[in-house]
Amino acid sequence: MADIRVCVAGACGKMGKEVVKAVTAVEGLAVVAAVDMACAGEDIGVLAGIGPLGVAVESDLAAALTRSGAQVLADFTMPSAVMGNLRTAIPLRVAPVVGTTGITADGLHELRRLATEAETPVFIAPNFAIGAVLMMQFAQQAARYFDYAEVIEFHHEKKLDAPSGTALRTAELMRDAAEGRLTQPAQAEMGEASRGLAVGNIRVHAVRVPGMVASQEVLFGGLGQTLTIRHDTINRESFMPGVVLALRKVLALHGVVVGLENIM
Ligand code: NAP
Repeated sequence: MADIRVCVAGACGKMGKEVVKAVTAVEGLAVVAAVDMACAGEDIGVLAGIGPLGVAVESDLAAALTRSGAQVLADFTMPSAVMGNLRTAIPLRVAPVVGTTGITADGLHELRRLATEAETPVFIAPNFAIGAVLMMQFAQQAARYFDYAEVIEFHHEKKLDAPSGTALRTAELMRDAAEGRLTQPAQAEMGEASRGLAVGNIRVHAVRVPGMVASQEVLFGGLGQTLTIRHDTINRESFMPGVVLALRKVLALHGVVVGLENIM
């Protein structure tokens, strides 16, 4: 069978280069285009450290998709760029696999409309690491049995959005699973600014320090006990099995699918 033709947007970024390496290393997928503002004209294989691929980085996404005949777009760009890229790709019937975080509820609504109109599937994962997906599932399960819960996420200082998409999704899943069980401490004397973002009765805290890739703790408190669920991403390779799985499966999906757990 012919390889699935993949365009990588944000190809010169930290995640983009890992995606180029991962896609090139597996059977059934091929990098046919690379788009980024940062390093136009350079061979993406050389930039990714795997030697020449004969694919030069381009800056115009529409032109790159049309020229290359890409079937799938892997988007690892920036919160400010991702919606524009998807508004370009979906009407061209190129199926996006989106790792870029920061897509709002309104953005998601728009993507569902675009996907329906173009009959083109879209896959979005706030986190492509299997351990993080399991952390979210365990947290969802525990939320039904404890009285208090908070989420703390830790990322490198260059991450643009906060809290992370993973932390927000974890808290939303926990809030829905708890069905009103989770409560909050009385806060009359507490400075609201120090208490993080409220997602239902769950507070979400974002820490930004150099040296971190992506870590998250979910803390639960009940009568005489606490439970901590923690996931650490040691390096960006951890996301690649999930990204490769999504690139292989996206063309067979329908509409907009959010979350790696839906395709595992
Ligand atoms: P990064 O190193 O800053 O890379 C982003 C790249 O995208 C940069 O080279 C940037 O170029 C480029 N870019 C910006 N606008 C663009 C556009 N319109 N079209 C094409 N390229 C564009 O960031 P990163 O660490 O790779 O992360 C990228 C995204 O993935 C972030 O949103 C991050 O939160 C997310 N992420 C998701 C997961 C997951 O599992 N879902 C895991 C890790 C990271 P310039 O530098 O010139 O602006």
